[in-house]
Amino acid sequence: MSTIIAPRGTRDILPCESYKWSYVINTAAETMNDFGFNEIFIPLFEHTELFARGVGETSDIVEKEMYTFTDRGGRSITLRPEATAGVMRSALENNLCAQGNFAKLWSYGPMFRYERPQKGRYRQFYQIDAECLGIQGAEADIEIIDLSIELFKRLGLKNLEIVLNSVGCEKCRPVYREKLVNYFKQHESELCETCLNRLDRNPLRILDCKKEQCGKISDNAPDIYDSLCDECKDHFKNLRDGLERLGFTYKINKRLVRGLDYYTKTAFEILSGDLGAQNAVCGGGRYDNLAEAAGGSHLPGVGFACGLDRVIIVMEEQGCNFGEIPAPKIYVVARDDEARANSQIITHKLRANKIAAVNDISGRSFKAQMKAANNCKYICFVNAAGELELKNISDGVQKNLSLDEIIECLKK
Ligand code: AMP
Repeated sequence: MSTIIAPRGTRDILPCESYKWSYVINTAAETMNDFGFNEIFIPLFEHTELFARGVGETSDIVEKEMYTFTDRGGRSITLRPEATAGVMRSALENNLCAQGNFAKLWSYGPMFRYERPQKGRYRQFYQIDAECLGIQGAEADIEIIDLSIELFKRLGLKNLEIVLNSVGCEKCRPVYREKLVNYFKQHESELCETCLNRLDRNPLRILDCKKEQCGKISDNAPDIYDSLCDECKDHFKNLRDGLERLGFTYKINKRLVRGLDYYTKTAFEILSGDLGAQNAVCGGGRYDNLAEAAGGSHLPGVGFACGLDRVIIVMEEQGCNFGEIPAPKIYVVARDDEARANSQIITHKLRANKIAAVNDISGRSFKAQMKAANNCKYICFVNAAGELELKNISDGVQKNLSLDEIIECLKK
């Protein structure tokens, strides 16, 4: 029988890596708390309809990337490809924004998309999400962008750049859509096959195409700003003014439309890196029609999703700090076989006093224990009579001490 390996597009985050993930998640938790965002845990799977209606039937995610199956009760279930639709579903179901209240929520965890795996792109990947629900004004968009930038600053990412666009709303987008279709129809023979398919179904996505040929055509496409309604124009201006008041600079990219159909008005990305090697570490925007698409009453929202896998790769490339590698403070070494029972009791008592301690439980020799103790700050030698000696590895000083004295010394 062949050995079973992890499915394509998934991977294990091993102990030699996992501390980096904990560092990023802990930094996110602190930052979210400083911005008044509360943590929410939502299911890893939802009814397929939520994503089909919320993310959009014409999006790549819904068309070809979802992990969908029928459960034993005959329901169509989908592993979540993103978090926003689930957070919105939860806010509606639990009345989190009743009576004009707003909710600031964050969450992290795995997402699932059937994509072609490559560096930084997996079928199970992880996101940190922040969503601000119930606020129509651009103040919420400003807060969301401010929050993402603050998080990336705290993680030590360099050369952060905000890229902004407005994708309009249900009032002005149809007009723009028509202009785009008319324009692209004149260039039909030059578009790639994917873009040709998008022409009638979702022409805005053509703007997003990374192929050089389509890019050149898109560069001369009608400008969305000429089609925005007054409300969208005001919103975009308020957003830009607000970011400037906070001292942020930004770049406007009229081709930034992002892959999820639910965006209205603001779409943005945060890039980090040196010019030429830019990496989108987070993307987000406003989604004022998502609540209605999910069957609820009107509830505006704005949020971001930050790809954890990608952020960690960029942090590694930029030599960012991941905090201290967790290591036990003290290794309890049994001087001989007769001392092993005592060393286990001593280790138990140290841990009960919240001191990170390890003890050999494999019956290794004294020499092997000494080798393993290398990454600790202290060694505690135990003999068969229960006598203890504490050695500080950094200065080599070794003293006979009682357990209480050792606990006091290590707690300092
Ligand atoms: P999206 O949900 O598509 O707006 O993506 C938000 C962020 O999630 C992106 O900036 C990426 O960093 C990350 N992301 C999206 N898809 C994947 C994937 N398949 N593997 C790893 N990260 C991803």
